[in-house]
This record gives sequence, C-alpha cells and structure tokens, in this order.
Amino acid sequence: MIPISFEFYPPKTDEQRAQLDRTVDKLKAHAPEYVSCTFGAGGSTLSYTAETVQHLLQAHGLDAAPHLSCVGGTREEIAELLARYRDIGCKRIVALRGDLPSGMGHPGDLRYASDLIAFIRSEHGDRFHIEVGAYPETHPQASDALADLRHFKAKIDAGADAAITQYFYNADAYFHFVDAVRALGVQVPIVPGIMPISNFSQLRRFSEQCGAEIPRWVSRKMQAFGDDAESIRDFGADIVARLCERLVAGGAPSLHFYTLNLAKPTQAVLSRMG
Ligand code: FAD
Repeated sequence: MIPISFEFYPPKTDEQRAQLDRTVDKLKAHAPEYVSCTFGAGGSTLSYTAETVQHLLQAHGLDAAPHLSCVGGTREEIAELLARYRDIGCKRIVALRGDLPSGMGHPGDLRYASDLIAFIRSEHGDRFHIEVGAYPETHPQASDALADLRHFKAKIDAGADAAITQYFYNADAYFHFVDAVRALGVQVPIVPGIMPISNFSQLRRFSEQCGAEIPRWVSRKMQAFGDDAESIRDFGADIVARLCERLVAGGAPSLHFYTLNLAKPTQAVLSRMG
C-alpha cells in the first residue's frame, strides 16, 4: 500500500476535540506515515495548532506536523513557535506563507514561504523535515504559471524536503506540474493533496477561494443529485478513488488526505481503491 498522511484542523471546543479523537482513532487503523494540523489565517488559532499537535504526538503516538505560516508574524514570534515545536518533539513542519485576513495590516517580517524556509534552516539546521505547498493548477495570486513554478523552485532551493499539493480533480494537472518542476531540476517528492468529497456546496466555496477547479461534468452530476446525500457521497468517493489510483499508477510517491476532521469520506475513498 502506498504511504498516506492525514491533515486535521485544530479543534476549539471540547465537542470538536472529542470528534477529532474519534476520527483519529478510526484513521489510525490505516497506519499513516504522519499527520498534520493546519493553522488559522492571521494567527488566531496558532495556539490551538500547537496544542493539537502536542495531543496528536503524545496521546495518539502519531508523528504530527504543525502547519506554520509567516504572514503577519515577526521573526521573534516565529522563532518562539519553532522552539516550542522542537521542545514538544516535532520532527516535521509544513511551512507556508498563509493568507492575511482582509483588513489585517502588518504583512509580517517574512514575505514568502521561501523566506520562512530559509529562516527555519538558519535557526534549526536540519532538525525539521520541511513540507511546502505546491499548486498544480497555479496559485491564485501568481502573476503567471511560469513565475509560480519558479517561486515553487525557490522554496526547494531554500531547503524544503518535499511538497504537498493543493487539491485538484484533474490528474493531468498534477503530472504536468511534476514534469515541469523536474525540468527545472527539482527532485523532491511532490505529494498529491486529496480532498474527499462529502459536502459539495462547501467544496464549491472552498474551491472558488483557493483556485481549485471542479470539472464541469462533476459539478453537473452533483447538482443533479440535489439533496440526495448518499448519491453525492457515493459518486464523490468513486471519482476521488479513481483519481488516487491514477495518481499512484502514474508515480505519486504518497497521498495526503484533507480529512476536515471526518473519518468517513477518507475511509470511503481508501476502501474503494484497488
Ligand atoms: P508562497 O509559496 O510564498 O507563494 C504565495 C504566492 O506568492 C504565489 O502566488 C507565488 O507565486 C508568489 N511568490 C512567491 N515568491 C515570490 C517572489 N519572490 N516574488 C513574487 N511572487 C512570489 N492556509 C492556511 O491558512 N492554513 C493552513 O494550515 C494551510 N495549509 C496548507 C497546506 C497545503 C499543503 C497547501 C497547498 C496550502 C495550505 N494553505 C493553508 C493555503 C496557503 O496558506 C495559501 O495558498 C497561501 O496563499 C500561499 O501559501 P504558500 O506557502 O504556497 O505561499
């Protein structure tokens, strides 16, 4: 079986914490290589991220990686967080620029994810395995697709060890991206980020924000299902499982699942994969 990893978001209430524990207990059966925990834009849930990562490491015994963003933060704040992650035993970090919530003023001391990676390496050498974000369908703010590829390469040159992609439903976008960065001399693993489909209207909203394309034929079919949640889940699990199979057959080194703290949609995909 191909290595897999799971992404969670940091729960804020006791009820959400209990739900995450139930989800992790179920997904642990799939023996993930590691799990990761997102941060909230602008730093508002940074402390929940650290708390959640500590819980995943200590209570669940998982290799847990915090997502860390530089936007809006000072060098001192980022250094403090890195020291905390070192002290609780983190071995990996998913390093990102992040996005400033609209209206938030200060962009922070480090402008791009490549600056953050250089900062982590200068402070901690090779202590952390660093994952970065990759955009097979191009980052929505990039001036153009080729510039985005060069900016991606800058993150690897700054010391990143691997990349996880934004989710996508078109396998060719991934294969093309991998070929394009290999042609630029990038050798690190490029791991597809997989978004199982459970709530289609929520997925459509997310996708508009992050620039991920939902194929027209998928949208039309989902619309036709209307309120029939079971058909939506079945069809969603089928197309995502087929996507994963194509990616694995085409050489994807592992798969990273965006779980949204739910076990079932990810399990449905895994159980349908050959
Ligand atoms: P960067 O790599 O810095 O790129 C951002 C933009 O700047 C791109 O358009 C790039 O082309 C451009 N750029 C880079 N360098 C330069 C330069 N030198 N000159 C000009 N332009 C440049 N968001 C959250 O809020 N929380 C999370 O936990 C989170 N986790 C994520 C996990 C993954 C795997 C991915 C793929 C994304 C995640 N995001 C998360 C979203 C991410 O924060 C946004 O996509 C953000 O807009 C970009 O972050 P980045 O690290 O890719 O930025």
